[in-house]
Amino acid sequence: MLADGTRVQLLANIGGAKDAEKAAAANADGVGLFRTEFLFLDREDEPGVEEQTAAYAETFAHLPGKKVVVRTIDAGADKPLPFLTNADEPNPALGVRAYRTSWEKRSVLTNQLDAIAAAAAQSEAKPWVMAPMIATVPETEDFVALCRERGLEPAGIMVETPAAAITADRHLTACDFASIGTNDLTQYTMAADRQLGSLAHLNNPWQPSVLSLVKATCDGARTAGGDPDAFGESANKPVGVCGEAAGDPGLAVVLVGLGVNSLSMTPRSLPAVAKVLSTVTLEQAQQLARKAVAARTAEDAVSAVRADLPILGELGL
Ligand code: PEP
Ligand code: MG
Repeated sequence: MLADGTRVQLLANIGGAKDAEKAAAANADGVGLFRTEFLFLDREDEPGVEEQTAAYAETFAHLPGKKVVVRTIDAGADKPLPFLTNADEPNPALGVRAYRTSWEKRSVLTNQLDAIAAAAAQSEAKPWVMAPMIATVPETEDFVALCRERGLEPAGIMVETPAAAITADRHLTACDFASIGTNDLTQYTMAADRQLGSLAHLNNPWQPSVLSLVKATCDGARTAGGDPDAFGESANKPVGVCGEAAGDPGLAVVLVGLGVNSLSMTPRSLPAVAKVLSTVTLEQAQQLARKAVAARTAEDAVSAVRADLPILGELGL
């Protein structure tokens, strides 16, 4: 909650049932990113629908009545998966990864959606389902259709490519919500492999170009509009952030100022983010967001925000 009463959902990133327990203990408003691929990694074969259903249901059971954003399998690049991804692509981060694997191996995605729907039917959690690495609007339409066929609603996308951010209005007309994966969005905006330590200065979500794409996504959500009562959230299609950026308290203020209405992070980061957000009004956050987007460099953006947010220094952040 901001100082003026504006609500921002503070959510947790999880990988399975144990993390879901921690998210509930940390009093998160729900889960903004359930990384389901942890169930698939180090496996020779795809886990069966029943095994997946049991794993998702066990996770959901810790979060009755809560929003749980489930990301469908995000294999490839930094998350290789022998039965699904191609080991000899020259540029795996730009290859057939994440949602793209469903073009050739459709059943892995449809089996997973079947399992999520079955687990949802057995639980009181509210699964929101989203696909990673979406670039084009037909991809969004395809994924939403698969979700609708199974009664999975809301259905959304991760904004991880500049393509999706720039055309967010059309993506958000076709789907119910978006969650910005700033880790990948930064990698693809800056053309800098997120796994290379030597490029860490480029892989920085404070880069004004990355913030401009967050703004483009939020502006697109406003253009797409939406039903004020849909999913109990806002007049616009909900836009969250679930990359590391959401857990940086100063950047969290900027993201909210840009129009993001939920932030999802490791549960450890929740208290500091909540504390800093509670000291600013929406108008102040919007002012800081304007300064950060207009900054010349990432470092200038950080300095401008820190100068106006002395609470960060006071809290030793
Ligand atoms: C992201 O890219 O920001 C994200 C949340 O997904 P992952 O880090 O799992 O790729
Ligand atoms: Mg990602």
